[in-house]
Amino acid sequence: MKPLLINARGSGYALGAFTFWSLDSAQAITLAAQKLDMPVILQGGQIEAEHAGGYDKMYMIASSVAGDIDIPIALNLDHAGSFEQVKQAIEAGFTSVMIDASQCSFEENVEQTCRVVELAHRFGITVESELGILAGTEGKLSVNESEALQTKPEDALRFIKETKIDALAVAIGTAHGFYKFKPEINIKRLKEIAMVVKEPLVLHGGSGTPEDKVVEAIECGIAKVNICTEFVAAFGKSFMETQNSEGFKYSVPNLFTKAKQSGYELVLEKIKLFANDRDGRQRSI
Ligand SMILES: [Zn+2]
Repeated sequence: MKPLLINARGSGYALGAFTFWSLDSAQAITLAAQKLDMPVILQGGQIEAEHAGGYDKMYMIASSVAGDIDIPIALNLDHAGSFEQVKQAIEAGFTSVMIDASQCSFEENVEQTCRVVELAHRFGITVESELGILAGTEGKLSVNESEALQTKPEDALRFIKETKIDALAVAIGTAHGFYKFKPEINIKRLKEIAMVVKEPLVLHGGSGTPEDKVVEAIECGIAKVNICTEFVAAFGKSFMETQNSEGFKYSVPNLFTKAKQSGYELVLEKIKLFANDRDGRQRSI
């Protein structure tokens, strides 16, 4: 994942990192990426791995779809909560891992991240780690409270130096899941971080974040945008709409092919947006 992200940050675009859980969902992602001739990141965490039948099954799905396309793809473990999960994903063949100890103290976060970096870098595996706390989905925090939990530039610089991670997930006002409140993306804070951190930056909670803010964030150094909720919802909405449509009859294409197509279309839109080019003009990589 590292060379893809370095290229993206250097060229002013971002890669989409989409959550997958099955062959259908993985194909929806990679076929859209192939159509636009852009690299893409397939990712999943513990819950998706449990759904798919384990990290090795996720690897098998990813390598199977990778065989059908000729664009670079990375397979990332999202939000690992423990060293054990990281180890399992690396053993299964993941190309990168994200360790999330952002809820811990700075020192504890450094310690847990360093342990992961030491193992992962031995095998050429990219490491992403998070610093700062993402806004709560309930929106209970005031702007001042939420800003205090956001990533601080001086901490980010120290964190990178001490851990030697390859990519940093920053907290700048986005939240996981769909928003129940209007998100305030702190572009000023992102610019301050990007001034001191030259490594690729990652935006979590990409679903539902206003498009103009996403583009602005990419222009300021975000090289990877995570999309989970919106992609899952594209499948879910399609299932609901087709079943509720008049004269609907159950068949694989009626139900599943349509849902996969909706996922594919969402990924197309997102990749075009992250390429910072709504016309879908191809970027050299
Ligand atoms: Zn996340």
